Parts: sequence; structure tokens; C-alpha cells
Amino acid sequence: ATTLWRERKEAVLCRVEEMKGNVRVIIRCRPLEHPDSVSKTRFLSPSSLSVETRNKVRTFHFSRVFPPTASQRDVYEEMRGLVVDSVHGTPTTIIAYGATGTGKTHTLFGDLSSLNDCGIVVRAVFDIFDLANSPAERGANRIDFSCSFVELYQNEVCDLLDSIREGDETEKVSVLHLGGKVSNIVQKCVDNAEDALELIFEGEERRVVAETRLNAHSSRSHTIFTIHMHKAHTPFSSISFVDLAGSERVAKSQSSGQRLKEAQSINKSLSALGDVVSSLSKNASFIPFRNSKLTELLQNALGGDSKTVIVVSISPNADSVSETVNSLEFGGRVRKVQNRRSSSKK
Ligand code: ADP
Ligand code: MG
Repeated sequence: ATTLWRERKEAVLCRVEEMKGNVRVIIRCRPLEHPDSVSKTRFLSPSSLSVETRNKVRTFHFSRVFPPTASQRDVYEEMRGLVVDSVHGTPTTIIAYGATGTGKTHTLFGDLSSLNDCGIVVRAVFDIFDLANSPAERGANRIDFSCSFVELYQNEVCDLLDSIREGDETEKVSVLHLGGKVSNIVQKCVDNAEDALELIFEGEERRVVAETRLNAHSSRSHTIFTIHMHKAHTPFSSISFVDLAGSERVAKSQSSGQRLKEAQSINKSLSALGDVVSSLSKNASFIPFRNSKLTELLQNALGGDSKTVIVVSISPNADSVSETVNSLEFGGRVRKVQNRRSSSKK
């Protein structure tokens, strides 16, 4: 009974802590891939789950835990408030973290052309333009929108919108901004949800070309899609969607050459992300944003007055237990963050 009470208390404290801070961690568990395989995850409450490891059962508490039955809509509803806040001036970042195949891309993008199966990005895009086009937001409060879409592969930034120029297919392939400066990222103006979605389609097409050229794979690169919001030509808010590279540990003995370099680069960028977040939570005077391109790109998203949600995706499968525990531990580390208030208000 004491253990139960202690767990309840911890669950309540976690929720309170997360409401106060600017970083929330949500867990989403995908369905079993094969119906006859064994699930090692149990969903104890809307904010807790347990994982059966080889020698013990471990319980974790988060802001929200979605079981495999959760729909795309359920997951979006949990973050709709933040999407609304972004239109009202709070920069927001939604990050998908997890091992390859656990559902990061499904959660963020899903089936782009299906009303039921589309992910957070599509739903957010429609909500943002609905809100911005409401009569209250016209005139002096008019918001101008632009999008950027980049892929990070190892230490190289590839601008997925850079070379989309009418009618010139050769240019479409040749103008990759590899190793380009973070400040040179293209922002394309968009007037409505359809235009924004069109840019995602075009960026995805370009991503395939870029990956072929680099001999890379989408599971081993990070992408960041951002909607920038301006009022009277001044940036006033943004919302970013980050689809991280797979967090799985790659056994050193199994990889060499490019695979090993990729694995090291992913480990480095994800651990840099963890370090940044844990320095923020300790209120450290130095935050190591410069330790990786990923954290450099996410500097605004994770610092200042912004809000961040990390959706950690996991698999219930018995073979995934160690990855699941690693991902939940990462989420637990991140959960302790509170963004520092920036001293100068924009
Ligand atoms: P990741 O981006 O993490 O590598 P994906 O999003 O590509 O993983 O998911 C791998 C596969 O599993 C895809 O076919 C995807 O549609 C499916 N999938 C993932 N999560 C879910 C879910 N919650 N419900 C149904 N299918 C899912
Ligand atoms: Mg993916």
C-alpha cells in the first residue's frame, strides 16, 4: 500500500511539475507489429506505464502516455493548445524521439493525404491557418507566414526548400546546400494551409534526391519543418516540428565505415540534445548549444520563452525492451527541464 501511495504521489508531482515547466514529455506506444508477439508494456493510467525487463518491472510517469489504441486525433488533441499558443506568440517546438520503426514520422506526418491518418503537422497547419484567418486577426494583427524545411545528415544541413524553382529540373537536383550556414536557410512565403502542405510534399521529394546523393537514409537523419510567423515584417512566433534520427544504439561490432560514422554522429547529436536540456534544467550558466548542429538549430526552440513537447515513441515488442527503456529514460531526463526566461523580451 505504501508503494502504491508513493507512486500515486509521484505521478501527481510529475504532472504538476510539467504544467509549470515549458517542456512536456508525451509517450506514444505503437501497436505490436505481429498480433501473436508478446507485449512487454502495460498502461497503468493516462500518465504512467510499466515495462517488463529481464529482471524487474519498471514504472515511468510522464505528462501523458498514449497506448497503442490512441488515434492520430487523440495525440493531436493533447498538443492543440500549444499550436494555438504559437499563433498567439509563443514559439513552440514539437520533437519526435525514438528508435527507428516506433512511429516518429507516423506521429508527425502520418498519411499526408488522409483526414483520419494524417499526423500532427497536417492538423496543426490547418488549425494555424483557421485561427489566423479569423476576423479578429486581420488588419494590423495580420500574420504573414513562411516555411522552412531542413534535413541534417551527420554534420551537414541540407535545405529541402532551397532549389524549388519553377521548371528547372536540373537545378532542383544540383543546388543542395550541404554544410550551409544555419542563417542561410530559405523561408518560402505561404498564404494558406494547402501551400504549406505543398511545400512539405516538395521538400519530401527533394529529400529522397538528397538522400540518394548522400547515400543516407531517412532513419539516420533529422528533419526540421518550421512555420515562421511575422507581424509587420517582424518575426513574432514560430512552430517547429522535429523528426529525429532513430535513437537505437548501433553495436560497434556490427558497423564500420559510413554506418559507424552515422551511428556516432546520431549518438553525438542526440546526446548533445540531452546535455542541452539537462543544463537548462540545472539552470547552468553555460548551455552547450554549439556542441552539435542539431542543438545549434534548436537553440531558439529550447531556450527563452518557447514551449517544447517531446513525443517519445516506443514499441511494446519483447525485442524492443532495451530500446524502450533507453527512450523512456531519455524522456525522464528531459522532463526535468524548465526553460529559462530570456532576460530581454522581444
Ligand atoms: P519511425 O519514423 O519512427 O522510423 P514510422 O513512423 O516510419 O517510424 O513507423 C513505422 C511503421 O509503423 C509505418 O508503417 C507506420 O505507419 C507504422 N506505425 C507507426 N506507429 C503507428 C501507430 N501508432 N499506428 C499504426 N501504425 C503505426
Ligand atoms: Mg521516420
